[in-house]
Amino acid sequence: MKMFTEEAIKRFRDPKNTGELKSCNAAASAGDPECSDVIKIFIRLKDDKVEDAKFQVFGCPSATATADVFIDMIKGKAVAEALRITQKDISDALGGMPIEQLHCSSLPIEAFRKAVGSCKR
Ligand SMILES: [Zn+2]
Repeated sequence: MKMFTEEAIKRFRDPKNTGELKSCNAAASAGDPECSDVIKIFIRLKDDKVEDAKFQVFGCPSATATADVFIDMIKGKAVAEALRITQKDISDALGGMPIEQLHCSSLPIEAFRKAVGSCKR
């Protein structure tokens, strides 16, 4: 079994991007019935860029680690580009993930897509 990388462990012990983003213009959650993770993502979009983003998580360590690295990946990016980030990109950014935890990385992507879809710009 592939274990968590140091990067993943660091991120779920001490995530940088958690909390509520007060000045967000969109927020959305996604849940994973398989391990009962729920992730909520707050985003502030401006001029088709992700100006700022934060997340809240109730769930397993890999949901926390993947959401935290995902927020780093989308911040400052063009929305269209951020929407193209895949589960593999997230896993690569963490230096790989245990296969049985991979499904957790779909949550930040799903929540972000929903948030972008609901955003009034
Ligand atoms: Zn999970």
